[in-house]
Amino acid sequence: MRRSHRERHRMQNVGWLRAAVLGANDGIVSTASLVLGVAAAQTSQQNIVIAGVAGLVAGAMSMAAGEYVSVHSQADAEQADIDRERQELKTDNASEHRELAAIYQARGLEPALARQVADQLMAHDALGAHLRDELGISQQTRARPIQAALASASSFAIGAALPLTMAALSPVAILSPLVGSTSLVCLALLGAVAARAGGARMGVAAIRVTFWSALAMALTAGVGALFGVSA
Ligand SMILES: [Zn+2]
Repeated sequence: MRRSHRERHRMQNVGWLRAAVLGANDGIVSTASLVLGVAAAQTSQQNIVIAGVAGLVAGAMSMAAGEYVSVHSQADAEQADIDRERQELKTDNASEHRELAAIYQARGLEPALARQVADQLMAHDALGAHLRDELGISQQTRARPIQAALASASSFAIGAALPLTMAALSPVAILSPLVGSTSLVCLALLGAVAARAGGARMGVAAIRVTFWSALAMALTAGVGALFGVSA
C-alpha cells in the first residue's frame, strides 16, 4: 500500500515537471528561431526584439488556448461521469452497493468484508467512494482547465524570455551566435533535468533535444536569410 502510494506521488510530480519543461522548451526553441530568422534578414535590433516579443505573446496565448480546450473537454467528460454516478446512486442504490462491494472484492477483500467496507464508505460519502474507487477521480486528480492554461502559458513565456533578453541586450555584431548558443545550452540543461526526473539517461536526452533545436534554428535562420537577400 505505502509503496504504490509513494510511486503515484512521484509520477504526479514528474508529470507536472515534464509539462513545465516542455513548455519552457517550446518557448526557447520558437523564440530563438524567430529571433535568428529575423536577424538573418539583416534588419535592425529593434525589429528583432519586437518580433521576439510578439512571438512570446503569441506562443504563450496559443499554448494557453490549446491547453484550456484540451483540459476542459477532459473536465467535461469527468463531470458527465460524476452526474451519471450521482443519478445512479439516487435511482438504484442497492446495485450501487453491490457494484462497490464487487470492486473491493476484486481487489482482494473477502465478500463479507467487501460488503461491509462498501456499506460503511457509502454511509460516510457515497458519491466520493464511487468516484474514487469506481472511476478513479479524486480531488487531487480533477482536471483544472484554468490552472493548466496558466501553467503552460507561463512556462512558455519563461522559456521565451531567455532568447528575447539575449537579443535585447547583446551587441548587434554577435546577436545571432549569442542567442543561438545560450539557447542551446539551456535546452540541453532542461533536457537533462527532464530525463533525470523521469529516470532516463541524461546525456542522450540532452544531445537529442540540442540536435533537433539546433536544426529548427538553422532552418528558420536559413529562411530569414533567403528573404533578407531577396528583399
Ligand atoms: Zn457506482
